[in-house]
Amino acid sequence: MNLLRPLQSRIQGMPTPLPKRHLYGIVLLSTLTLTATVMLPSTQHILEQPVRINIPTSLNLPQPAAKEQVDNTEFYTLPHDDIGIDALDEIVATEPEWQEYVVQNGDTLSTIFNGLGLPLATMYKLLDADKEKILDGLKPGQSLSLLIDNDNLLQEFKIKQDLLHTRTFSRDGAGYKSKIKTIASNWESKALQGVIKGSFYLSARDAGLSASQIQKIANLFQWQLNFARDLRQGDSFKVLVQREFVKGQSTGKSELQAVELNSRGKTYYAYRNEDGKFYDAKGESLERGFIRTPLAISPRISSKFNLNRKHPITGRVRPHNGTDFAVPIGTPVLAPGDGVVVKAVRHAFAGNYLVIRHGRQYTTRFLHLSKFLVKPGDRVRRGQKIALSGNTGRSTGPHLHYEFHINNRPVDPMQVKLPMAEGLSGSEKRTFLATVEKYQREFSG
Ligand SMILES: [Zn+2]
Repeated sequence: MNLLRPLQSRIQGMPTPLPKRHLYGIVLLSTLTLTATVMLPSTQHILEQPVRINIPTSLNLPQPAAKEQVDNTEFYTLPHDDIGIDALDEIVATEPEWQEYVVQNGDTLSTIFNGLGLPLATMYKLLDADKEKILDGLKPGQSLSLLIDNDNLLQEFKIKQDLLHTRTFSRDGAGYKSKIKTIASNWESKALQGVIKGSFYLSARDAGLSASQIQKIANLFQWQLNFARDLRQGDSFKVLVQREFVKGQSTGKSELQAVELNSRGKTYYAYRNEDGKFYDAKGESLERGFIRTPLAISPRISSKFNLNRKHPITGRVRPHNGTDFAVPIGTPVLAPGDGVVVKAVRHAFAGNYLVIRHGRQYTTRFLHLSKFLVKPGDRVRRGQKIALSGNTGRSTGPHLHYEFHINNRPVDPMQVKLPMAEGLSGSEKRTFLATVEKYQREFSG
């Protein structure tokens, strides 16, 4: 009953090793009735009685008249109505059908083509059309779809590259042409929320946020909150996350849309705008900008930032990690950006010096001061007076030595690209505020 395997496997929904068109030949060449043991899907036992399939009587081949000479080496040429083409059509579809094949371990394109009864010449034509070398990278589990016509010609060949992309090879003259089809995905919003117990990180993970989303949230609020220090047990958060789906299956892509964080009675907001940046509920930037020079006047620069500066006498490299401004003793020094004072101490070489941390990445340092106007732990605003310049420590004359560090490495304060802090305005702001309302409805709905 080997000949019937295609029939069985089709009934079970398995890939068909032999295309239907072969059945045509089988029917013609075999006896007029077929007996098949048919295993039905999801039945718990095999049917004990073989199922008899009766082929319509119109298939009966007319017997050649006894008096005629019969040449056994040739097929009979029969009138159509005699062999019952119509009846056969019910069994053998003349329309080609898509066949699915799932790549197995150890498969190669040629073993797959052999198994499907396709000539290798067809495979080489496909490979010719495969400029992106998709066929070289077949992986077990990947699904292939083939449209083979009744002349055993591969009309179309599809490979699902991922959830969103399908590569199609279609017959084009003697060869094939390849194109990619991208399936439209849809994004769905989900509100996640939680109350801080233990760390923000763990509480946010419990609420369903990913590590990178948690990092992103900490960065969004870096100018307003220090997550490690400022958050308390019982503080709460709400996060709107948008996730991408294709036919109900997650693609793994997601995007933060809105964050509302309540800490010690105060709520902090971050909403995503069309430009991909986050703003607060009023359309103000969550970034904090810097002023280039921490002084109210435009001072003369007496010594530039230079990591390769050589000592004039010893000739050794003594980097100059900051910019020196020649200013008289007592000149007000301004905070170049919002931040927290982390150090205000006296040092033998640096004299009175002050360090301010701005958010997570930036710190600024001020040396040779005559007087501090702030103390460690103070929050400062951009432009606020923090000290008076001086000539303390190892200094050859009144000046302010100013350093700008990114991730604890000194950069040139006069050249560094400073974060911008533009808020939204005009029609952009109106669109944004409408989006904020939509976010808030999604939080409450
Ligand atoms: Zn200096």
